Formats: sequence, C-alpha cells, structure tokens
Amino acid sequence: MFASAALLLALCCGPAEAATESTSGFASSDNFVVYAPTQELADEVLKKSEQLRTKLARAWLDKELAPGVGAAMIYVSLSDGENHGATSPKNRPDEKYHAVTIRSSREKALNVILPHELTHALIADEFGTRLPEWADEGVACYQDGSELSGKRRQTLMRFAQTGQWPSLEGVLQQQKYEANDHSFFTVASSVTEFLLEQGGPKTFFAFAIEGQEKGWESAARSHYEFLSLRDLESQWREWVVQALQPGSEKLRRPNQTRASRLSPPR
Ligand SMILES: [Zn+2]
Repeated sequence: MFASAALLLALCCGPAEAATESTSGFASSDNFVVYAPTQELADEVLKKSEQLRTKLARAWLDKELAPGVGAAMIYVSLSDGENHGATSPKNRPDEKYHAVTIRSSREKALNVILPHELTHALIADEFGTRLPEWADEGVACYQDGSELSGKRRQTLMRFAQTGQWPSLEGVLQQQKYEANDHSFFTVASSVTEFLLEQGGPKTFFAFAIEGQEKGWESAARSHYEFLSLRDLESQWREWVVQALQPGSEKLRRPNQTRASRLSPPR
C-alpha cells in the first residue's frame, strides 16, 4: 500500500469528490454526516469520528470542542486496491461542514485515513489558513499507520546516509505540494515530531504561525532556543541520525502501534 502514491494521495488534502458508488448507509450527529456503502459502516464511521474528534482536540488543542467545531460531511467508499482520502475545508464561515472523502479498505478507512483527515478538519477550524502546509500535514501524519511511517524512516535513512537532505527552509515555505511528494511528507512529519519533543503542541503551533507570518529565523529564536533556522535544521538532522540508531525509540518503527501515537509528546 504505501505503494506510496496511493496512500500519499489518500493523506493529502485536495478537492473532495463525493463518492459516486452506492451510499445506502447514512448516519448523522451534531458534528458529522456520514455516507457509506452499508448502514453498519456508516454507523461505525460516525462512532469513530465522534471519538476521534474528542481525542484529537484534547491531544492537540488541550480543550473540549464547542458543538459543530470540526464538523464534517464524510463520504466513504470501499476499495481493496485504492487508498485515497481528502479534506476540502469549508470556504465560508456560514458553512457548517468540511468535506471528507475516503476510498480504501474498511480497515484503513477507519484506522488511518479517517483520523488523518479529521485532524485536518480540526486544524482548519482552529487555525484557518494561518498554519503552513508542512505543519498541517506534519500534525495529520501523526495518525498515519506503520506502513507509511516505515517508508518515511527509510527515506530519512537515505538522507542521513547520502548527506543529501532536502532544504528545510524550502519545505517550511512550501505552499503547494503534490500528493506523491514523499520527501515533503517525510520532512514535514519528522520536523514536526522533532519540534514537538522540544516544546509540545502549543509552542509548535505558535512557532508555525509566526514563522509563516513573520519569518522562520525570528520564530526559531523566539519560540525555541535555536540560534537560527540553520541551527534548527542542524539539530533536527542530528536528532534524526540519533533516532535512526538501533534501539532508539524516537522514530516510529513499522511495528509500532498506531494507537500509541495518537497523542503528540507533551
Ligand atoms: Zn493530509
């Protein structure tokens, strides 16, 4: 599956397309409207969505959500060979729902793509467009499964072994990315994990927002104790190299359970 392009596309935000296949299942609550091929799956997706909404808000925002925050219309279709997901944020304040589309196996829909996409919905309501793309994806990637994290670990290993690291500043400033831009997702998720270890979610979000609005040099100094963006990049690379050492617990290993990574480090 990490037939990369497939799941990367799944995890990337893009225009939502309503499922065109059978959606005889329907379930709704104050926060979600779910269309799925069967009633049983619609009920399961709704139940999981409500649980995730509460867990994600506590983990990332340290608060309970008001009714309707993070609300989404969720379209699910099943496929054994495809893994697609997308979140199309609502465009106007008077709109109630973000639109989430998922096409994958049942297991991946419930355990990988739904958590990833609902993170985007939550982030969109909390921060609007103030959060840069890398931070939005970096946070959502916390929900990705072991196949993706294993693939990203391999990519980090290649960066470390060859010394050919992508420019961190380039990734921080990247406004657009392709769904199959594995390097972007790898750097975004790794830097996010590194920064969360330094200061937790509140500092991370403040850094990301100030960096996008005022520049990364000053944000690196004011929210963390880095001397400069170059210093941040250097320390991140050292952290990655250390984390890749045998026995290190820092990077997710392929067999690490997804549940253990639901919450960011505090
Ligand atoms: Zn995403």
